Amino acid sequence: MNKKFGHLRKGIKQPQLDDFITASVIDTILTRKPGLLMAHFVDLDSMRHQYGVTSNEANEALKRHDNRLGELITATKKAGIFDESTFAILGDHYQINVNTILRLNILFAEQNWLTIDATNEIIEWEVYAKSCDGSSYIYIKNQALQNHVYEALNQLPGIEKVYTTSEIVHLGADSEATFMVEAIPGCYFMENVEGPLVEEVTDEKIGQPDYYRAVHGYHPDKKDYQTTLIVSGPGIKRGEEIDNAQLIDEAPTFAKILGFQMPNVEGKVISDLFEGE
Ligand SMILES: [Zn+2]
Repeated sequence: MNKKFGHLRKGIKQPQLDDFITASVIDTILTRKPGLLMAHFVDLDSMRHQYGVTSNEANEALKRHDNRLGELITATKKAGIFDESTFAILGDHYQINVNTILRLNILFAEQNWLTIDATNEIIEWEVYAKSCDGSSYIYIKNQALQNHVYEALNQLPGIEKVYTTSEIVHLGADSEATFMVEAIPGCYFMENVEGPLVEEVTDEKIGQPDYYRAVHGYHPDKKDYQTTLIVSGPGIKRGEEIDNAQLIDEAPTFAKILGFQMPNVEGKVISDLFEGE
């Protein structure tokens, strides 16, 4: 694909990267008539990170996605597989606008729970924060420090909640972590130790690695933080709106569309989608 369509790319820059993906997917539809095809488009995600959730740039990316989808639908018609094809358009997360960075490893270094060398590399740690952007894992080697760490985190502005191991295991997160912290909307975590504990995201910083106008990685129950699933095709109800479902419901639902079942999974088929159910 890169030999055929690589001229459309500018490294991994958007929107050219997704235009390259679109050309590759159209070629695959026309030449292979696939039974299952999955494509990951990143234009909207990139624009939201760089410019904000409802920015003009993000809205322009949505329009480009709409055009790309139109091209893919046209390709299935040309390939003669439109009537038997189901289209599912989905996101795996939304985003929340941010203006402040929290570097928890700076806090841990100040408490001597973590050691940094002259080149800003972490060389030793008893307490370490691993960022997921909107939330962060907290790993603690020396469990005697647990209460101190819990108190220090709870005193920090910008932290909405500190979750314990048993709470995060219930959510499907890493059982090795002692805590997981959730940022308030507007804040996100960086795990590096270059820069202050708390830093405002200024216009000049946007474009540098890890500096964003919006991020994801928050608790799935965060307010106004839901993503989307749109499905269309034979056997799928038209115009039906379903209030909510979970990401884990998507795999068994797609399995049903493809004609098989996934009985031993946590999610369930979103049966309201289907005609006659
Ligand atoms: Zn992203």
